[in-house]
Parts: sequence; C-alpha cells; structure tokens
Amino acid sequence: MQDTHDLAAFRQGIRDFVRQRLPDDLRQTVRRGQQPTRDQLVAWHDVLAGEGLLVPHWPETWGGRGWNVQQQMVFDEEMALGDAPELNAVTFDMIGPLLIRHADPAQQQRFLPAIASGHQWWCQGYSEPNAGSDLARLATRAERDGDDYVVNGSKIWTSYAQYADWMFTLVRTDREAKPQSGISFLLIDMTSPGITVRPIVGIHGWTVFNEVFLDNVRVPVAQRVGEENQGWTLAKSLLEFERLKLARIGENKRRMARAREAGLTRSHLGRRVADEPWFRERFAALEARLIALEANAARFVARQAAGERLGAEVSMLKLRGSRLIQLWEELIVDALGPEAWPLADDWLLGTGAAAPRDALAGTASSRRFLGRGYTIAGGSSEIQHNILAKQVLGL
Ligand SMILES: Cc1cc2nc3c(=O)[nH]c(=O)nc-3n(C[C@H](O)[C@H](O)[C@H](O)COP(=O)(O)OP(=O)(O)OC[C@H]3O[C@@H](n4cnc5c(N)ncnc54)[C@H](O)[C@@H]3O)c2cc1C
Repeated sequence: MQDTHDLAAFRQGIRDFVRQRLPDDLRQTVRRGQQPTRDQLVAWHDVLAGEGLLVPHWPETWGGRGWNVQQQMVFDEEMALGDAPELNAVTFDMIGPLLIRHADPAQQQRFLPAIASGHQWWCQGYSEPNAGSDLARLATRAERDGDDYVVNGSKIWTSYAQYADWMFTLVRTDREAKPQSGISFLLIDMTSPGITVRPIVGIHGWTVFNEVFLDNVRVPVAQRVGEENQGWTLAKSLLEFERLKLARIGENKRRMARAREAGLTRSHLGRRVADEPWFRERFAALEARLIALEANAARFVARQAAGERLGAEVSMLKLRGSRLIQLWEELIVDALGPEAWPLADDWLLGTGAAAPRDALAGTASSRRFLGRGYTIAGGSSEIQHNILAKQVLGL
C-alpha cells in the first residue's frame, strides 16, 4: 500500500497535469455534458501518451508504468474532477490487459504498441439480440475454412463501434457443445468486407450504441486469442478489470459538484434552491451515500493492493455507484426545474427559438437519461443482486 503522503503528492501532480494540459475545447465539451468527437479524444490521447499517462496501469514492458490499483483510482478520480472525458475502457482497460495476459507474442507485438499509442480503437462485440445477461446463448457462428474462420451473425449495443478499428468478439465455434464450451474469442478488423455498422441513437441523443452485422466475414485463425472453444474463460477474465472502477467515485464527485452548483445558482419563487429543505435533505443524503461508497471502495482497493482475492461482495460497488450517479442526475434536473426540460424555452415560453442555455441546463435531461444505462452496463443491477443474494448472503 502506498504511503498517504506519497499518495497526496501523486494526487496533486495529476490534478495539476489535468488543469494545465487538458485542451480547453474538450474541457468545455465535458463540462457542458456533450459528447466529445473522436478527433478531440485522439488529441487528448496524444497528450496523455506523450506523458506516459495513457496506459500507466500496464506493465512497463508494454509502455505502462505498472501503477497499483490505488494510483489508478486516484488518477481516474482526478481526471473526472478536472472535467477530462472518461477514457475508452474497452480499449485501455479491457482488450489491452487481456492481450498482455493471454495473447501469443505475435499478437502482442501486433496490437499492444498500437493500442498504447492511443490511435487504435476497439469495441466489444459480446451482446446479441438474444444474448445479453445470458451471454452464453450467443449465436454468431464462426466456421473454419482453411486458415480463416467465416463469421456470420450480429451484435448489438456495441459501444462506439462507429469509431472502432477493431472489435474483440465472442463467436460460437462448436454448436454441439454445452453453451459455454463452444465459444471462441476472435479479433476482427472492422474494415473487413461483410461488416455493417448501424448506429442506434439513444433517448439521450448520444450515438453510443450500434448494431454490427457480420456477413461471411473472413477472420484469420491467427486472430483467435487462446484455444478454440475456450473463449468463455477469457470473456469472464475481462470482468475482473472493471470491478473496482465501477464504483465510479470520480464520476459521482463530479456530479455532486454539479448538483451543488445547480442549488447555488438557481432560485424558485425568489428563494435559492440550496436553501430549500427538500434540496438540502436530498443533497445531504446523497453525500452521505457517496462517503460510504468511497470508504467501501477504499476497503476493496486496500485488499486488492495486499494481493487478496476480491469476493462476490465487490458487486455492491457497481450497484451503489451506478444508482448514486442516477440520483445525482435526478437532483440536478429537479433543482433546475423547467429549465432542464428539453427545448423547454421553445414550447413553454413560445419564444420560437431556444435561448442559449448554460453548461448545466443545456444537457441536464440528456445526462439524466444517459445515466439510466448504468443500471445495465457492466452487468445489470438485477444480476448483481442475484450474485449478492446467492454468493454472499447464501439465500
Ligand atoms: C451503456 C451500455 C453500454 C453497453 N456497451 C456494450 C458493448 O460495448 N458491447 C456489448 O457487447 N454490450 C454492451 N452493452 C450491452 C449489455 O452488456 C447488455 O445490455 C446486458 O448484458 C443486458 O443484456 P440485454 O440488454 O439483452 O438485457 P436482458 O439480459 O434481456 O435483460 C432484460 C432485463 O431482465 C433482467 N434479467 C435478465 N436476467 C435476469 C435474471 N436471471 N434474474 C433477474 N433479472 C434478470 C435484466 O436485469 C434486465 O433488467 C451495453 C449496455 C449499456 C447499457
């Protein structure tokens, strides 16, 4: 475990770095709650990579700094508080570390330097229309034809597939075996003939999700990670990477700051929202939950840093962290009142043209809807409840 003094100095260093080096246009985009463009993100990747801060949690052999989990958590928190965008976890936290652990040397040489440069983007092709929580039911199939697999099927909810150069995916290579036993893990070039990406625009107005159709896509066998039909084990090992991060402490703190700003800058009937009992009560209750979440996350981080295995109880971090984000977003919307309604000034006031709104009001509604996805992403809350009930409480 890192000395408290060292960690405080480390935190200050990251804070100063974000303040000085985060491009201002990107900071404003994030502050306004808008969706950054790929170009904005790649420019930020260049800054981070130049300072060795894009994949600091990777081992030094592959361009990382071998940071421990405490340093990673502090880094994520300071990035969020400094209005930096969330980094693409699928690329830097999932496929990168997976390749470091499980890929063969040729695959590692081919992909890891490109990922660490910040210019190669990945997406995760797991979910299918009939396989989400019950992922082992996936039906996209890959059949051997010489040195290639021929892949047919479709994926859905594939985040940022529209930006991605590569997709790591689960495919069925044995239809006779038990569901989990017939799955392989393939790396697919998104420019391969036979791939169609169709964006799905969410209720929040962001283009996060996509459908990906695979029609006779040829994938060299050399792009399979691990043994044929052993992909399920790799798929599960990915989840370990995200379990602590899903507490989303930094993201929650950023929202707390936004809720405070909403309360302090808005008035209803001549009275500051921050002085309203309903607002004070809700804010205090959420702040107490955040303090408890942070203490709980710190317990898990300390256990992980000491080399202990985290049990199923770590599921509570995702449950609590995701719900708290939604409650902050709801408080912000309620504090803003009609100002937060989409195009409220247009139809409520009949002005015909929406007056420009500030960073809080402009995207409050879309952010609230965006937050709904946290119930499902990373394993739905119902599934986490089942895990806690069965494996921790023995019900
Ligand atoms: C923001 C976001 C990003 C995502 N990004 C990706 C991505 O990049 N790549 C990718 O492959 N997928 C992605 N997904 C998809 C995600 O993994 C699936 O949505 C998730 O696995 C749930 O599957 P489903 O949507 O088919 O819902 P279902 O599994 O059909 O579930 C529907 C409802 O039933 C409940 N339910 C299901 N089974 C049980 C059970 N046994 N007990 C109790 N309740 C149950 C669920 O909790 C849910 O409320 C993303 C999802 C979100 C929200």
